[in-house]
This record gives sequence, structure tokens and C-alpha cells, in this order.
Amino acid sequence: MPKPKRPRSSVKTAIAGKPQRRARPIENFHAHVYYDAATREQAQKLCAAAGKQFGVKVGRMHDNPVGPHPRGSCQLTVEIDRFAEVVPWLILHRGALTIFAHAQTGDALKDHTDHVLWLGPSEKLKLSALS
Ligand code: ZN
Repeated sequence: MPKPKRPRSSVKTAIAGKPQRRARPIENFHAHVYYDAATREQAQKLCAAAGKQFGVKVGRMHDNPVGPHPRGSCQLTVEIDRFAEVVPWLILHRGALTIFAHAQTGDALKDHTDHVLWLGPSEKLKLSALS
């Protein structure tokens, strides 16, 4: 039995104007809670609360910039099946904290540029740290 013909164009190609490679699957998400000295305690409480409420993995408090992150941060690792609960909770509880969330697909550059979600104003990452 012949395979049904695939349509020659998809929504993706129509939007982008050129064929796209299929994106790698998402393994999980990171939510990096940014802070400085004045907001450290608030960030720590938010991360601890997220860990307690959702069982997300909470990283250590990095008071100084680490990797591509421009300032202090604490990393939450959010599994795919918790994303829809954790992100709305972060939206409602982040206060004035900025949170940089991104997918983890194994393509570090894309994950920190294209596969991103900012809660609060976006900040400039040090992308050179990814190569
Ligand atoms: Zn990350």
C-alpha cells in the first residue's frame, strides 16, 4: 500500500519561508531565578518554595554570574510534565524577580537564544560562555 503523500509545505515553512530542521525533543526546562544582594533572600525563598511544592530540583545559589547568566542566579530544573504547573506559579509568585526559563534539548546555543521564556524583562546573556 503506498504511503500517503506528505504535504509539500507546512505551517512552519510557510512562516519561516524556508524548510526547517525538525527540532530536537525537549528533555526538561531550566528556570533560572536571577537576583542580586538586595533580592537574594526573596530568590532563595522562591526557589525553596518551588522545590517543596512541586518537587523540582533546586540548584545552589550562585551569588556571582555563572556560565551565560549575567548576574546571580538559582536554577530550578523542571520536568516536562510539571511545566504547566510550575511556570504559572512562578508568574504569580516571582514578584519583581526576573526568571529566565529555557528548554533543554542538548543544543546549548539554541536553548539559550531561541528556546527561551522570560518572566520579567529580558537580559543580555553571555553567549560566548556556551561555546
Ligand atoms: Zn539553564
